[in-house]
Amino acid sequence: MAQNTICDLCKEDSEDLEHLMFKCKATVPIWHELFEWMKIPLATNLDMDWIRRKSKGKGWPNVLVKAASTEIVYGIWMYRNSMIFGNKGSYRDIQSVIKSTIDSLVYRGWMKPKHRNHIVNILM
Ligand SMILES: [Zn+2]
Repeated sequence: MAQNTICDLCKEDSEDLEHLMFKCKATVPIWHELFEWMKIPLATNLDMDWIRRKSKGKGWPNVLVKAASTEIVYGIWMYRNSMIFGNKGSYRDIQSVIKSTIDSLVYRGWMKPKHRNHIVNILM
């Protein structure tokens, strides 16, 4: 990612990692919708430090925040590439990114028996 280039998603700010992942008006709604879905309050000042702090520990909320953040970052990156290179598919718009991210979280959570009850709780 080059410095001092305009963000391809919002066309408003320069595109750096901090902007793309945590500040861009085109990607921030992804964080909000996913954390709302997980029923976990999202920081008003979202950044990597907050995610690191919330991901520490072995409790379910920590595990979930870590897994979700990883999936969201991946989804945002795929969405960005999709917008730049005109790809279709699972990351063509924000709703598709959210759906793909939820699918991944449910699938990965379900694969670990100790997480299944938590996944069920989110889905109900
Ligand atoms: Zn932007």
